[in-house]
Amino acid sequence: MSQTTDGLEKLKTKLLEIQHLRDAASLLSWDQETYMPTGGGQARADHIATLQTLAHDKFVSPDIEDVLLHHIDPMTGLANSKGTGLDEASQALLRETWRDFSRAKKLPSEFITRLERECSLAQQVWTEARQDNNFATFLPNLRTVVALKYEEVEYLGYTDSPYNTLLDTYEPGATVAQLQPLFTTIREGLVSLLEQIRQSPTPPNDRILYQTYDTDRQLEFGKLVLAKMGYDFSRGRLDLSAHPFTTSFHPTDVRVTTRVFEKDLQSCLFSCIHEGGHGLYEQGLPPGHHGTPLGEALSLGIHESQSRLWENSVGRSRAFWEYFFPLLKDQFPNQLSGINVDTFYAAINTVKPSLIRVEADEVTYNLHIMVRFEIELDVIEKRVGVEDLPDLWRTKMKEYLGVVPERDADGVLQDVHWSFGAFGYFPTYTLGNLYAAMLFNKAGEDLPTLQTDIAQGNLIPLKEWLNHHIHRHGRQFTSKELIQRATGQTLSAEPFLQSLRDKMQEVYGFPA
Ligand code: ZN
Repeated sequence: MSQTTDGLEKLKTKLLEIQHLRDAASLLSWDQETYMPTGGGQARADHIATLQTLAHDKFVSPDIEDVLLHHIDPMTGLANSKGTGLDEASQALLRETWRDFSRAKKLPSEFITRLERECSLAQQVWTEARQDNNFATFLPNLRTVVALKYEEVEYLGYTDSPYNTLLDTYEPGATVAQLQPLFTTIREGLVSLLEQIRQSPTPPNDRILYQTYDTDRQLEFGKLVLAKMGYDFSRGRLDLSAHPFTTSFHPTDVRVTTRVFEKDLQSCLFSCIHEGGHGLYEQGLPPGHHGTPLGEALSLGIHESQSRLWENSVGRSRAFWEYFFPLLKDQFPNQLSGINVDTFYAAINTVKPSLIRVEADEVTYNLHIMVRFEIELDVIEKRVGVEDLPDLWRTKMKEYLGVVPERDADGVLQDVHWSFGAFGYFPTYTLGNLYAAMLFNKAGEDLPTLQTDIAQGNLIPLKEWLNHHIHRHGRQFTSKELIQRATGQTLSAEPFLQSLRDKMQEVYGFPA
């Protein structure tokens, strides 16, 4: 074995050990959100902080740095003369490991512990503040978390905007300068679509979705859909949690959660499909690369593209319900008697500006994201203080969605993200929606029978298309390269806007 490949094998072994610590921390987090007794919160925060600090310390070790510097030019982050002798995958592995390493190395261990602990505490305070509709109790913690984010940016440095550094954590390569014009296009497109929808003389009615639906039967149906999507239950499971999420410890153990309400048919159904999309991505990552960047999901935007593609392009499509509506009717014959698939399809695509992001329809969803993006940009660029957020929230909701929350619990306190320091996360939801539309269009071109397959309940060709074009690559390519390779296009809002216009024209019956 040459010295180069020998060094690479050593690196992979070390990365795998670090991954095991992180996998253990993820399992503890999964348990925290599903089965942990409420009293265990403080101790659990300590467990997780210890594991994350250990993983961090092991990662920024001189051993790892030596192997990386042997192959990488630290100025460019790309392969040096020794590195270029390696195959493309190994070069990508080194490039991405260096990216993580050079970032992690700038953050002191003491800072990581402080950040993990404060964020965990802030999240617990947020939970109560939201329940009590009391922003004031959360304010001191939010202030601490924001101060820690400023500190993080100081360690990491930034170009153009401190926000870029935070955004880069979740969506490598994305910048404020790239997002702002893209978001303007989306906002203009959505606002004019919303206007057309408001003027529709024949809006659909979604009342049928809010009858009484037995929760066990809802869960059973969610499981059926997941299985048809190709989500492998021998390598996964479905549990309940307050907020649906997906977590993975390895491609052979990928877990999804949902929530179920007796008076709302949509929540469990669409969260199962959404998390199923995330789950398929994690189950489709190459197990042989577990522990290295090549075995990891590329970015949150790409991750969200998988969930939104399944949730919206598939799960809210007419073709999908061609097959699934009769099965749903078998489960709920009384509630759905006299309802046909067209009525049901229109009901699940009803558009209503509302206060809560996670319950938003496809049209207004991204307007919720824009409110958050603009506010957090103002915070991180220090134009507003955190005490101003409740009012700023109301102002922007009125401007973009025409609705104003009376309670902060339905306003600035509704999302968990800021409590655990996830500033720069929200834009990845919108990017995911844009990628999803591009990918679904291309899958339709590559698979001429896609629509008929879906209408027959055969979702496997689509899953395999995604396995091939997205999942198996891990972080080998950048988002830009991956999307280019999969679709032949660069990121654009147009496919997303066009697919929404088409659907809304059908559902609301306005002229094209
Ligand atoms: Zn998601």
